[in-house]
Amino acid sequence: MASFALPAAEDSPIGRLGHVVGHLVRSANNSYLAMSWLQQCLKTHHICSQTVSQARLDRILPTRLLDVSFSEDATQIVTAFEGGGHIEYATLSHCWGSSPVIQTTISMLDQYKEIIPLDELSKTFREVILVCRSLRIQFLWIDSLCIIQDDPLDWERESAKMADVYSGSYLNLAAAAAANGTEGLFFERLECIKVRCKLSSEEEDDIFISNSPSSYFMDSRESPLASRAWALQEKVLPPRNLIFGEDQLHWECHEELKSESSRKNMQIDQSFPSSLRRYLSSKPSLNEEVSAQSKLWYKMLEAYSRCELTKSEDKLPALTGLANAFSRRSGFNYAVGLWEEDLEMGLLWKSLSPKRHSYPLRTEHQHGHGQL
Ligand SMILES: [Zn+2]
Repeated sequence: MASFALPAAEDSPIGRLGHVVGHLVRSANNSYLAMSWLQQCLKTHHICSQTVSQARLDRILPTRLLDVSFSEDATQIVTAFEGGGHIEYATLSHCWGSSPVIQTTISMLDQYKEIIPLDELSKTFREVILVCRSLRIQFLWIDSLCIIQDDPLDWERESAKMADVYSGSYLNLAAAAAANGTEGLFFERLECIKVRCKLSSEEEDDIFISNSPSSYFMDSRESPLASRAWALQEKVLPPRNLIFGEDQLHWECHEELKSESSRKNMQIDQSFPSSLRRYLSSKPSLNEEVSAQSKLWYKMLEAYSRCELTKSEDKLPALTGLANAFSRRSGFNYAVGLWEEDLEMGLLWKSLSPKRHSYPLRTEHQHGHGQL
């Protein structure tokens, strides 16, 4: 059975009530929308600004970043950010997929420090650079370009920093609907049928009828990106996420959770991973129950167990960033995926629907961080 949405234009009487969809995601409207969400967070969100300020004090800057302002049709790798506490950078969370991914290798590093033409990049990377420019963010971190993929020492050193890189991100851009780099951030929108109708004795308005767009929950739990185990920490650790879903944009930060088609906030506390993100950024208080805290971890483990890994031996490494953040906040002692303080409860688990996944081993991204 199909379900339908009745969206309206943003500046119409119905649109002002909150249910808006229908313009193209690539249009100026949407970069305006993403910018307005970002500005609202920067200017009015107390918890977000506190968390970001703290993260800025603690953070370790990435060794390499892409400078997206280098020229209109190119970017370049820039280095040496020691002591540069005010540098803001975006991060990308994406699926590598089975298509070839442009990578920095030992032999290409010097050239990429000079120039990386945009037309050599995948569609996703090109579009992420355009989004950064439209949001006036100069620096961008992308795993395949900012870690030297065929240098085991560099990979070991930089991948150990990965959780810090995402935690210190100004804004994480999540290419949720793209199964690989050829698909990009922007997808065709659902077609809407415009109907003129009378709302009251005086007012007329346009209503559009469309199939229901993918929801925040679909894009954040059932998208190609959501199936990647590594992507979970990339989603929880950054202070802000701009999610490029199949039909619309979504926004997540410590204080707001909203979608383009529904400007009203969804309940953060009821939603994983927002609940875990909020906990990790909160200050410890007296009388916090061990069980209430570990429950957030178990909820995360449920989501994590549904995800897939290219290499089965990454099962614990892909959790390390989250485990470190949880340990810092709770003071608990980590015990191979569980916590010593709640070990009896932690061991009481069972699988409700055994998975039949195999973990295909791939050799081409041997040093990549195991993306599917
Ligand atoms: Zn915010």
